Amino acid sequence: MKINERIVYTCEYCNKHYFRKDFAAKHEKCCIKNPDNFKACTNCLLLEYIDYKYYTDSYGIDSEVNTHCFRCKATKQLMYPLLVERKGYAEKYPDQFEEQIKMPKDCSNALYPVSLTIEDLILDIKL
Ligand SMILES: [Zn+2]
Repeated sequence: MKINERIVYTCEYCNKHYFRKDFAAKHEKCCIKNPDNFKACTNCLLLEYIDYKYYTDSYGIDSEVNTHCFRCKATKQLMYPLLVERKGYAEKYPDQFEEQIKMPKDCSNALYPVSLTIEDLILDIKL
């Protein structure tokens, strides 16, 4: 019989397993269940994904670029997602993210979907 014992690294937030410590550490930093990665915009009904146009002269030629970004329906603020923040793209490509801010951790306008419980549904049937 052959027995292999290995060290397994487990994500503190989602319990995903890794055999390599550096992969586990990289995952934990980006894990969607890591509280550091929480944004008030996540699941907010007021967040929309819109077409976005910006102008750049990065190659010495003025050009118009069509892309997308997020916008809050309440404040009309344009925003970029966590990935852009984490990778530093807003600083690296200022033309593209000039009018945008990072998504906030707290927001007084946030509107989340109401999650119904089975008791809510039963009550609804009785009424
Ligand atoms: Zn995880």
